Amino acid sequence: MPENYFATRMEGLKPSAIRKFFDIAATMQDVISLGIGEPDFDTPAPIVQAGVQSLLAGQTHYTSNVGILQLRQALAAHLQRLYGVAYAADEIVITVGGSEALYLAATAFVNPGDEVIIPTPCFVSYQAQVHLAGGIPVEVACKMENNFEVDPRDVEAAITPRTKAILLGFPSNPTGAVARRETLMEIARLAEQHDLLVFSDEIYDRLVYGGSHVCFPALPNMAKRTILLGGFSKDYAMTGWRIGYAAAPAELLKGMLRIHQYTVMCASTTAQVAATEALLHGDEHVRQMVAEYDRRRKLIVAGLNQIGLPTFEPRGAFYAFPKVSDTGLTDEEFASRLLVEEKVAAIPGNGFGAGGEGHLRCSYATAYEKIEEALRRIERFVNRL
Ligand code: PMP
Repeated sequence: MPENYFATRMEGLKPSAIRKFFDIAATMQDVISLGIGEPDFDTPAPIVQAGVQSLLAGQTHYTSNVGILQLRQALAAHLQRLYGVAYAADEIVITVGGSEALYLAATAFVNPGDEVIIPTPCFVSYQAQVHLAGGIPVEVACKMENNFEVDPRDVEAAITPRTKAILLGFPSNPTGAVARRETLMEIARLAEQHDLLVFSDEIYDRLVYGGSHVCFPALPNMAKRTILLGGFSKDYAMTGWRIGYAAAPAELLKGMLRIHQYTVMCASTTAQVAATEALLHGDEHVRQMVAEYDRRRKLIVAGLNQIGLPTFEPRGAFYAFPKVSDTGLTDEEFASRLLVEEKVAAIPGNGFGAGGEGHLRCSYATAYEKIEEALRRIERFVNRL
């Protein structure tokens, strides 16, 4: 074997900080995991049944590359109903999770050397996908004093002649932050002024608490330069089905579609049928899950603050993002010792990019009673420090 048999684009692709932690936790007994980035709920039964029925009815074949028409139509109607944004069915491609949608955006639009501005802390795949496309991720740190919302002035300062796109991820993994309309309007102004694309990952769009989600392409003049990335994993508890979508003006979608066609052909047929059911009849299930997440959110945020770990109130997704650096430990030290000494798994914030340093990602997509017990253990740990 030649020494460097990996392609050069692999250089700089670091192992995920999240995986590393899971690997350690998996070897231990009685661990309470606040490390999980997926719903603890199973997919609601009627959605599962729709998938099963489709298999029994012989829908075991490929679909068209873009995805089944009924699903794309249901999605267009859904986005119109919830956010007032108008997409035609042929401006939507059904993908293998939001992950593939992100991959298509990065590969279709980012040239080697292009810069993509990414507010961090963010989902671990953002930098990696831009990097794999040959682009340069340019991180802009979101700050706790701004409730981890991106500051448009920082974005503006990061724009150079090589900037191609801004990659937004609100509601945010790992902070739970949402972005307000006025902030997004500022980003929109910058995108217009500098002729940038916006990749807007809105996979947590329905998991918001006490407010309403602002869909980026619904802002004036933004649909034409936005690639909307979405999915079913979080809102409908469908992570294992691997189903998501990208929506963009037909001219832009065309390029993404070509890559999609040559890489995956089409998303899973079963998952597409189930996702259609989710859109048509899933609202009540979403409402119930959101209500339960909200209960846990209040518990964990109050609990962490009371323990003395400053935690801002997250308004979206299912993560709390306490600051742990006041304890004198780094986020890595805090997370490793908490895991070994008290068997609570949470993810060090620095794994999510520069803005995450000194924090811990605690997912509350786990049972209420487990969160109560985790808080008792964290309190014991902090009191010992
Ligand atoms: N975006 C964000 C912000 C995420 O947190 C995730 C999953 N952790 C994804 C995209 C990808 O999700 P999926 O591929 O399951 O749709």
